[in-house]
Amino acid sequence: MKTLLPTSTAGSLPKPTWLAQPETLWSPWKLQGEELIGGKQDALRLSLQDQQQAGITIVSDGEQTRQHFVTTFIEHLSGVDFNKRKTVKIRDRYDASVPTVVGPVTRQKPVFVEDAKFLRQQTKQPIKWALPGPMTMIDTLYDDHYHSREKLAWEFAKILNQEAKELEAAGVNIIQFDEPAFNVFFDEVNDWGIATLERAIEGLKCETAVHICYGYGIKANTDWKKTLGSEWRQYEQVFPKLQKSNIDIISLECHNSHVPIELLELIRGKKVMVGAIDVATDSIETPEEVADTLREALKYVDADKLYPCTNCGMTPLSRHVARAKLDALNAGTEIIRAELASR
Ligand SMILES: [Zn+2]
Repeated sequence: MKTLLPTSTAGSLPKPTWLAQPETLWSPWKLQGEELIGGKQDALRLSLQDQQQAGITIVSDGEQTRQHFVTTFIEHLSGVDFNKRKTVKIRDRYDASVPTVVGPVTRQKPVFVEDAKFLRQQTKQPIKWALPGPMTMIDTLYDDHYHSREKLAWEFAKILNQEAKELEAAGVNIIQFDEPAFNVFFDEVNDWGIATLERAIEGLKCETAVHICYGYGIKANTDWKKTLGSEWRQYEQVFPKLQKSNIDIISLECHNSHVPIELLELIRGKKVMVGAIDVATDSIETPEEVADTLREALKYVDADKLYPCTNCGMTPLSRHVARAKLDALNAGTEIIRAELASR
C-alpha cells in the first residue's frame, strides 16, 4: 500500500431502505430467497461506490450481507441453537436474549467467502474484511456445553482461522477481528484473549487487524460511557500485551472519546487505525476536526503506520450522515497528507 495515510472504515455502513429497516441493529431483511441474495449484492455495490466516491483507500463490503457483526457469523456454525435462548449480560453492560451453545461448535461450510469473492471482483483497491473475535463471540452466547469461556474461545479461534484462510485465498488484503470485549474483560484478555486471537490468525500471510472500540452509538453504550469518568484508560490494560502480539494493525476509537491519546505510545511499532470519526453522533466532523485528531495521533504513531479510520461501524446512522462522515474522513486526511508532504 503506497498511499500515505490510507483511509478505511471500522466496518459496517448503513443498508439501503429497500434491504433492511434503517438506523436499526438486527434489522430484519425486507427481501427473501433469490431476491435477498441479489439485493445484498446490489447493496454491497452501492456501499463500495460510496466509499470509492469518498476517496476511501481500503474498502470493505460495508457488512451489507449481515444483520449483525457477531450473530450472523455464529448463525452459520453448528453447535449453537438459536431457538434455545437465555438472557445474559453482554460485555457486563446490557441484558440480551442470546442463543445457546448446545454441542461442539464447528464450521460446516464457509460463511463470508463468496461475499468476499464478489467484493474482490468489483474492485482492484485493497479490501478489508471484518470477522468477530473469539472473545466477543463467546460474550454473545449462553454456553451450555463447554462451560468454560476460555475453552469455547479456543474452539471459535480454530473456526475463525479456517474462515480467515479462505478469505485470504479469496483476495482479502486485511482481515480484521472485532474485539470490543477487549475493552471490558482485561484479566481474560491478558490470560487467553490475545492468545486465542493469535490462534485465529495463525499461518495467515495477509495483514491482520484487531478492532477495539467503545461500541456503536446505541443507548446501552452511551449510558455505559457516562459511567467511565473523564479519562478512559481501558486500552492501557491490554496495549502492552497487544504490542508484543503478532497482530499487524490495531483499530481504535480516538475522536471525541475520553481516551488519553498518549496511550498510543504503548503500541508504538504497530500500525494503528486511528478512529477520527465519531459514530455516536449525527453531527458531521469538519475536515479540520478530523485533522486535529490525526495530528495528535501522529505524535505517537509514525506517519507510515497511521491509518485514518472511523471509531466504529456506522450501520446505526442514516445513509446521508454516514456518507458525509466518509467525505469528512477523506478531507481531514488530505489536510494531513499535505502537511506531511510539505515537510
Ligand atoms: Zn467498533
